[in-house]
Amino acid sequence: MPPALTTPPIDRRPKRLEAMRDPVVATIGLGANLGEAPATVRAAIASIGALAQTQLLCASSLYRSAPIASSGPDYVNAVVQVRTALSAPALLAELQTIELAAGRERPYRNAPRTLDLDVLLYGHAQISSRTLTVPHPRMQQRAFVLLPLSEIAPELVSAEALQAVGDQLVHREIGI
Ligand code: ADP
Ligand code: MG
Repeated sequence: MPPALTTPPIDRRPKRLEAMRDPVVATIGLGANLGEAPATVRAAIASIGALAQTQLLCASSLYRSAPIASSGPDYVNAVVQVRTALSAPALLAELQTIELAAGRERPYRNAPRTLDLDVLLYGHAQISSRTLTVPHPRMQQRAFVLLPLSEIAPELVSAEALQAVGDQLVHREIGI
């Protein structure tokens, strides 16, 4: 007697098509000014790198910046680039989950925050929905975005743009 066939039958039912898209390079800005801000930013970078369908390409150094239109202690900022197959809204939702896990609350507009994660760029996409605007509408006015971004993707930041925010206090922090 031949041994009983144990391999499972081939499933010939049509598979649901996953909405898998071509990966896109997305740029994400990080900021924190409450609690252990450097540790929070580092942990957030690791969490972003661990997202499904997402690979961390590069991360800037950590920077310190004085609050702009906000209050509380100095911010710790960084910018990262990922390659992701998540849609832009799905990426934003994942980033908001990471913010919440870091204890993010939104008591009022521009309140100090344990963690802020913004989608700065999503490939070359221009997005304008109720919940998502990309490129991020204020990124060109913020030295705490442009300086770290110029460190990892200098081709995305013009000398003029950097000059225009040259009066804002932002320092690259080697030791944090
Ligand atoms: P901000 O980052 O402007 O200080 P919040 O982090 O509280 O403010 O975000 C407020 C809302 O901004 C979010 O609920 C989100 O829907 C929306 N938003 C619009 N465009 C973006 C973007 N590119 N990245 C992150 N959030 C965005
Ligand atoms: Mg935000």
